[in-house]
Amino acid sequence: MEKIRLGRTGMMVSKLGFGGIPIQRVSEDEAVAVVRRCLELGITFIDTANAYTTSEERIGRAIRGQRERPFVATKTGHREREGVERHLKLSLEHLGTDTIDLYQFHGVSDSKSLDMVLDPRGPMAVVKEAQKAGRVKHIGITSHSMDIAKEAMKTDQFETIMFPFNFITCEPADELLPLTREHDVGFIAMKPLAGGLLDNVTIAFKYLFQFPDIVPIPGIEKTHEIEEIVQVLAGPREMTEAEKRDMERLREELGTRFCRRCEYCQPCPEGIRISTVMNIRSFAKRMPPERIFSGMLAEAMEQAANCTECGECEERCPYNLPIREMVAEQVKWYQEEKGKYQEVASR
Ligand code: SF4
Ligand code: SF4
Repeated sequence: MEKIRLGRTGMMVSKLGFGGIPIQRVSEDEAVAVVRRCLELGITFIDTANAYTTSEERIGRAIRGQRERPFVATKTGHREREGVERHLKLSLEHLGTDTIDLYQFHGVSDSKSLDMVLDPRGPMAVVKEAQKAGRVKHIGITSHSMDIAKEAMKTDQFETIMFPFNFITCEPADELLPLTREHDVGFIAMKPLAGGLLDNVTIAFKYLFQFPDIVPIPGIEKTHEIEEIVQVLAGPREMTEAEKRDMERLREELGTRFCRRCEYCQPCPEGIRISTVMNIRSFAKRMPPERIFSGMLAEAMEQAANCTECGECEERCPYNLPIREMVAEQVKWYQEEKGKYQEVASR
């Protein structure tokens, strides 16, 4: 498979990567088989996170003893020293390795989080110490906020950035890629299928493959999904006129229904986690049902039922999403699905 240089990490990685969220949903053997099929197809960039429950361990099992070891990226969402130390230790254990190729600060989407990450005695110091000790090779960041992503690039502290990029969330092409190129930062494209909103794989990947220096990381659960994308990569990669028309139509239809999780709509006076609520169906496609119908996500969805429809969030959303309408739709969908889930669980 074609390889690209991942910014100033200097590493050559496959032009298509593997996103490790959905393998939490299948059995361990199925997960291992999916990862190994990706390796067979030539994928050498694998992304996971401490937050993805079993994903790191399954990837660790899949890559153990493989002839060519892939480049493995993982992440921590902790913003404090001790938490990062703990996550790093766990990731090394789960992945069964002495060195993590790329360690990323996960979901840094506001100034406070960026400051905490960069605190000279905080998370960055822990990862830099690990780098000196050879336990981490490269350091990256992931974000959903364009402003924070740009700010992070300018610090020159990160060798890679992971940011949502697809033909609907196409702002990075003009706003972020020029900056990552200027600072020689590797660009990893998350949400290539807009969190499950796009089902036309051909158009979605033909769009992304036109950029010569990004690595899209689709979340993969089944081998046929990655095989289909590899076919697109094999070409022809130029969009036909009909595909271009379809892309424009989809942009119009879906562009005002896709939440980028940028958090510009906050704060909500009712404490509603708007971006979580807006993306609940996407999470449900990628995560096990117990994580959807209990814990933090269940709390967020219960809270969302308190929306007073004040409209403050809509004034702040740069993408003009009809948040009130969408929150109500998501709450309704969630309650119906939760009912079905509880019925099955009680049998
Ligand atoms: S609703 Fe709008 S402002 Fe809020 S996270 Fe989504 S895209 Fe960003
Ligand atoms: S409309 Fe609902 S979600 Fe938006 S700010 Fe008001 S209460 Fe929060």
